[in-house]
Parts: sequence; structure tokens; C-alpha cells
Amino acid sequence: VFLALEGGEGGGKSTQAEWLCRWLEEEGYAVVLTRQPGGTEVGRRLREIVLSLETGDLSDRTETLLYAADKAEHVDTVIAPALARSEVVITDRYVDSTLAYQGAGRALPQAEIEKVARWATRDLRPHLTIVLDVDPAEGMSRFEGRDRIESESLEFHERVRQAFLHMAAAKPEHYVVIDARRPVEEVSEEIRRRVEPLLLQ
Ligand code: C5P
Repeated sequence: VFLALEGGEGGGKSTQAEWLCRWLEEEGYAVVLTRQPGGTEVGRRLREIVLSLETGDLSDRTETLLYAADKAEHVDTVIAPALARSEVVITDRYVDSTLAYQGAGRALPQAEIEKVARWATRDLRPHLTIVLDVDPAEGMSRFEGRDRIESESLEFHERVRQAFLHMAAAKPEHYVVIDARRPVEEVSEEIRRRVEPLLLQ
């Protein structure tokens, strides 16, 4: 089973990914918890490059390709092998982040971005994508140290948010959108409720 957590900054994705992982392990599943960008050694280096540069020092297309390289390495060396071993994979961000940040956020042509991201990931898609929906103004206020994406404008983050919501609305059978303002316990319970039926298939 392949699960992705998506959403804007400050929605608690990483916490929820960890809680979900712990619960699945307690239930006896072998789980791989990973992240994008940065789920591999190459990915960690790419993440550092992309996030440490100042806005303007990296063209939008290059940014997209660096994230795509991270994805290719991630799918080939972490995600696909784990799924082949019948393990549960939880990834903190995946292709939808690229469609939202580079596509909607940076306003690059959606169809082209999608083509690059699908090629990089061999079109491997999650069974379920959990979108932790958060109002950008609220989400961003939870941050102290800001990387170059987090310091983008509120309008940028609002476009990103809307992109996630649109993708979820277009394929409701593959998405669950959860209001990230709800207490963390409630959010994680809702996630478990949606994941459970997938495990029985
Ligand atoms: O959620 P996480 O901290 O791993 O994300 C790292 C940063 O990379 C975030 O600021 C996020 O907005 C950004 N990002 C991006 N485009 C992607 C994936 C992540 O701008 N495709």
C-alpha cells in the first residue's frame, strides 16, 4: 500500500506521517516512512541545494528538474523496492507537491510539469493521498526558520493550497482532505479510518 501526505506548510504532515507509521507497525505491518525531497542520499543533497538558495538564484525550470531528480532516485531506490516487498510506504510529499508548488505556485505549465514528474516517478501513484488542509496565513505563522519556499508570498501559498484542493476534488476516491486545524489526535484518527480499508484489500 502506497500512501502520500500532502499539503501546505504548517499542517503537521510530518507528525501525522510518524503517528501513522507507528500505528501501522503496531498493527504488524512492515512500513517505510520516507519524504520528498530528501528520502535518499542524493535527495538529501538536492534538498539542501534547492532549499538553501535565495529566491532568484535558481530558475523555476531548474528547481522543477532538481525535484524531479529527487523523485526518480526516491522511486527507484526506496518506494518501488519497498512496494515490491509488499511493505506499506508512507511518503511525506510526492508528485502533487510539484504540481502545486512548481505548477500552481510558480505558474509553470501544468501539463509539462506533470509530464516530467510522471516520468521521474514511472507514473507510480499512491493508493491514497492525505491532504492536510491549512490556511496559509495560519500555517506559515507556525514557522520560525524559513527556507526559500516558506518565505514566498501568501498568494503563492494560497495558489498551492487551492491546487491541492482541486486535485483532491477531481479524484475523491484517491484522496482524503482533512482540516489541519483539528486536534492532532482527531486528524490521526481520521487518517487511520481511511487507511484501514486499504490494508484489507
Ligand atoms: O515539507 P517539507 O519541509 O519537506 O518541504 C520542504 C520545502 O520544499 C517546503 O518549503 C516545500 O514548500 C518545498 N517544496 C517545493 N516543491 C516541491 C516539494 C517541496 O517547493 N515539489
